[in-house]
Amino acid sequence: MTSTPTGTRPAAEAPSGPTVLSGTPVVPGVALGPVVRPVGAVELPTTPGLSVPEAERAAEKDRFTAAADAVAERLAGRAAAATGVSAEVLNTTAQLARDRGLLSTVEQRIGEGASAEVATVGAAEQFVELFTSLGGVMAERATDVRDVRDRIVAELTGQGEPGVPMPETPSVLLADDLAPADTAGLDPTRVVALATRLGGATSHTAIIARQLGLPCVVGVGGLSDVPEGTVVLVDGERGTVTVDPDPQEAAARVAASAEAAAALAGYRGPGATRDGHPVQVLANVQDGPGAQAAVAAHAEGVGLLRTELAFFGRTEEPSVEEQAGIYAAVFAAFPGGKVVLRTLDAGSDKPLPFATPPDEANPALGVRGLRTARRDPGLLTHQLDAVAQAAQATGSAPWVMAPMVATVAEAADFAAQVRARGLTPGVMVEVPSVAVLADRFLEHLDFLSIGTNDLSQYTLAADRLSADLADLTDPWQPALLELVRATAAAGQRVGKPVGVCGEAAADPMLACVLVGMGISSLSCAASSVAGVGARLATVDLATCRRAAEVALAAADPQSARAAVREVLAAG
Ligand code: PEP
Ligand code: MG
Repeated sequence: MTSTPTGTRPAAEAPSGPTVLSGTPVVPGVALGPVVRPVGAVELPTTPGLSVPEAERAAEKDRFTAAADAVAERLAGRAAAATGVSAEVLNTTAQLARDRGLLSTVEQRIGEGASAEVATVGAAEQFVELFTSLGGVMAERATDVRDVRDRIVAELTGQGEPGVPMPETPSVLLADDLAPADTAGLDPTRVVALATRLGGATSHTAIIARQLGLPCVVGVGGLSDVPEGTVVLVDGERGTVTVDPDPQEAAARVAASAEAAAALAGYRGPGATRDGHPVQVLANVQDGPGAQAAVAAHAEGVGLLRTELAFFGRTEEPSVEEQAGIYAAVFAAFPGGKVVLRTLDAGSDKPLPFATPPDEANPALGVRGLRTARRDPGLLTHQLDAVAQAAQATGSAPWVMAPMVATVAEAADFAAQVRARGLTPGVMVEVPSVAVLADRFLEHLDFLSIGTNDLSQYTLAADRLSADLADLTDPWQPALLELVRATAAAGQRVGKPVGVCGEAAADPMLACVLVGMGISSLSCAASSVAGVGARLATVDLATCRRAAEVALAAADPQSARAAVREVLAAG
């Protein structure tokens, strides 16, 4: 096999068989169906110019406002019918269609004589350029701006709404990339799997596919050549898209995957290997309703409460009382159970206007996470007060961890503040320095939790949102696995728990590897809990340890997956 991360290769089992395209597996499961693609691109005006007479410009502005309102309302309506991340993504896109900056730029252009369509395209381009030049998460906003632009122009010109089709037969959606609002609106009974040419394991496509439980592979080379209507088999565990598969073999693989899915439906927790080695399988949540969903999914608790997500778009720091109310709703969902709350991870891909400097050249390496407390220590102390208040009100004993910690001194100072409030302190392992000095960090802390999304970004020096670099941020990268191993070993030496709460913990096969390294808890999206828990229940600890050994010894993510698959099948 070539060493390229993605691309076309002949099927290993049958050299003359169907074409197998490979990419990064994101959501396990096997599904078969004819290819559908997003509805064709909206035709944008090709003759920019100033053609609207002055007397008609007010009416033109009204025409634009009506179109933008219609788009925003349609998206908000779909958001109201959705839940969780899907609702959030749709709301964010709806808000963009009402964004004052964008609207006033369009109106200014109409005021100069541009038609509503031309003004929309021009203003959007201005914002796209700005966001693209900022890079990182801001560059991802450019996709949203283009999506809103297309929707408004389609509304103005009577073209069909762009986005994902609603096929009659269950189909597989192939695309270059999907706008967040498209993925959020997917109907999983009609679209049974997703594969995209771009996008990484932490892209919006991946996050929403995971929430919907849709088999998904991203970063697949050669997808553009597959014609609409062709039958393809998507394998979200192997990371493959088989074009025109052998019908019998395809049906057998779909059936085996359905059988495995049925086993998941029976998962009730608590997590353990087949031979009874306990592993807490926890959920990542952001608020009370999310915690309820985690209870329904039989998570044993919350391994990551992402507190910043409750305050997106807010310009003022939320009061201690408001924060305490939100945290208490999560604690109350798991009476006497484990809840790990993360203090605000504002900045970089999760900017919060009240906490984040707007003008950083390199926000992923800037003032994010715990570092926001350097500029405004009150943000942290108020939040810890709120946690203590919520703990007292609910009779809970939450663990509290800080994101984006880099030095032992930062960890020690954070731990002192947490302990002063009677809470249990830990930090996230996202910066390689923490993994390297895990022993010294643990002298001050009661636990560590490895955030593989950022740890891979900072270890491989690759933006976690970059579709072009998705192969580098693959959680099976041997360098990342080595840092996880070292951290877990440090925890075992002093008998302190080390969990994983990044996307790596949602991959059932990788979960076995992590357990084999000594990881004591795994925290993932509620929709992934059963998949991880059920998989662990099929293997014993000795097999997990062998899986860890072969994964660590592998040269790259592809060979690591293949070697582990073999070990697990034999075990
Ligand atoms: C991580 O970095 O792995 C993590 C869990 O945090 P987030 O994805 O919220 O940055
Ligand atoms: Mg992180």
